[in-house]
Amino acid sequence: MSEAELTFWTRAPFMFWSFVFFVFGSVVGSFLNVCIYRMPRDLSLAKPASQCPKCGFSIPWRLNIPIVSWLWLRGRCRQCAVAISPRYLGVELLTGLAFLSSWLAFGAQTTPGVLLAVTWGFVLAGLLAATFIDFEHFIIPDQITLGGVAAGFLVSAALPELHYVERPADSLMASGLGILVGAGSVFAVLQLGKLMFGKVRMTLEEGESAIFTESALHLPDEVVPYEEIFFRKSDTIRLHARRIELINRCCVDADVALSPKRLVIGDESLDPETVPFIKVETEELVIPREAMGFGDVKFMAAIGAFVGWQGALFSLMASAVVGAVIGVLLIAIGRRDWSARLPYGPYISLAAVIWIFFREEILAAWLPLGQ
Ligand SMILES: [Zn+2]
Repeated sequence: MSEAELTFWTRAPFMFWSFVFFVFGSVVGSFLNVCIYRMPRDLSLAKPASQCPKCGFSIPWRLNIPIVSWLWLRGRCRQCAVAISPRYLGVELLTGLAFLSSWLAFGAQTTPGVLLAVTWGFVLAGLLAATFIDFEHFIIPDQITLGGVAAGFLVSAALPELHYVERPADSLMASGLGILVGAGSVFAVLQLGKLMFGKVRMTLEEGESAIFTESALHLPDEVVPYEEIFFRKSDTIRLHARRIELINRCCVDADVALSPKRLVIGDESLDPETVPFIKVETEELVIPREAMGFGDVKFMAAIGAFVGWQGALFSLMASAVVGAVIGVLLIAIGRRDWSARLPYGPYISLAAVIWIFFREEILAAWLPLGQ
């Protein structure tokens, strides 16, 4: 390291850089808010500039200062006074804190020390964006997952410190293994889950029928609202109908598949919105119940690119524990039904954060078991 570098980062005290990291993080958080809103809607991140979601008022830079502006305007649009979600403030604060924590945990007043803290700050920012998007839309966009895989691999080449090694070749190996083990382990769990409990089969007696209305599935002894069945656009109910009745016609002996976007009866494909009533006689219905989706495979690959294979495996195992704890808490507060509506990505994110900050302690606790 050159003398000039040493003096640049040491010219100001550590505390000053802590403040810089928090402010920089909150600016990144402001951009995350744009990502969280636009990515799942396939909107451009670059254009237009930030707008009020209601009146379209273009927000000038001086009213778009992270944290400060939301507080200054008391969470309202300057022009139409519509309430702006506190989530915007929350994401800016959390991202500021994420960068500050990365600096405190991994930073040092050297060029590699600063780069390492910035890298972990961006990794935490990616986990935050994925969490908020997954909560709302049950997807994690490819820009985050596949983008994360590419970014993790490239950064590993430039910054071996990320994987606690000295040579770039070792760092790339660690990242590559992390990608493979991350994707492979979640994929394996997904396949296993499909075999074991991924689907719920419901059997109907002779003469009983299932009725699909606009909002719910009516079975002989229960009514299941669609929000408890369909979480992703790809979730599909499948059955073979002995007889199927629609409002104006009926047919016999047809395979039926219903997802939020498509109703397939035999060879015919319909828009479910246009079919308010279906009555089917069938022996068995198969309803999807999957905690994880293929997005989580890509998400874990991205995490593995940064934290290596041990971090990926830990994140997968710890995410199951996090999920179980939250499940128990929900039962305790009498909200068991909520657990089915929670996506899995946030559990993975939380587990990965635990690994990032407590890697040494976790490894120290585990290593004796491996010997
Ligand atoms: Zn407005």
